[in-house]
Amino acid sequence: MAISKIEWTGSTWNPITGCTRISSGCKNCYAERMANRLKMMGQPNYANGFQVTLHEHVLEYPLAWKKPQTIFVNSMSDLFHEQVPESYIFRIFDIMKQAYWHQFQILTKRSTRLKELAPKLDWPQNVWMGVSVENEATKFRIDDLRWVPSSIRFLSLEPLLGPLPSLELGNIDWVIVGGESGTGARLMKKEWVIQIKEQCIEQDVPFFFKQWGGINKKKTGRLLEDRTWDEMPMKLNDHQTKIKHNKSFHLTAIPLVPRSSRLDLSLEQRI
Ligand code: SF4
Repeated sequence: MAISKIEWTGSTWNPITGCTRISSGCKNCYAERMANRLKMMGQPNYANGFQVTLHEHVLEYPLAWKKPQTIFVNSMSDLFHEQVPESYIFRIFDIMKQAYWHQFQILTKRSTRLKELAPKLDWPQNVWMGVSVENEATKFRIDDLRWVPSSIRFLSLEPLLGPLPSLELGNIDWVIVGGESGTGARLMKKEWVIQIKEQCIEQDVPFFFKQWGGINKKKTGRLLEDRTWDEMPMKLNDHQTKIKHNKSFHLTAIPLVPRSSRLDLSLEQRI
């Protein structure tokens, strides 16, 4: 397990590493840069660099992590990449179902394959499914996500590369926005972010502002209109304290916070 620096999750689990670029959001892919660095450092899991690689030995790790946590699945890949066999995706879902005390978050840009496979997969309540959308050209991914019967459906609008003035957020439970960071980071305009935030408020969807990004993301920070926006679709702490290592626990009892009672949690409270 690796503790994640990503503001909206806790840890990462990478039963797959490596990917290929699919849209403009991939241009400065962080995972690609990191995988190549780890390869140079001799990290055995990255011997293939950024080629799609399955790591069977990592599959059962979440079952060994006894402390309930929020886990981002495949931070170094895309679970629905065309080179990942269907049978392997099923195995990952099976582990997530067995590890019922954790909360898993999956994010993909391959929404077409996600939509195709969704009816064949078993969707336990502890799996949140999201799609990345960076501009108008990739907005179709939101419609694909609406077909998915996961307990929480979320959008990662990062790196945000253009305005999204007409977002239809029906059946979407959470929206995250962030600017690109690191070398070559592309600009995200403040008015794009405010416009998305306003649409979330109008449509009663929790809004999480991750970062402005840029070359030095620590310097640009994550304040929007003089405050942080850390809204979440459910109370992670409540969920985690209620789940015990007891298989009789019924996950459908997770107290989802109704959209009308928008929840604002700071990072410290969540982790
Ligand atoms: S889909 Fe994600 S992991 Fe794959 S290349 Fe694009 S940004 Fe990188």
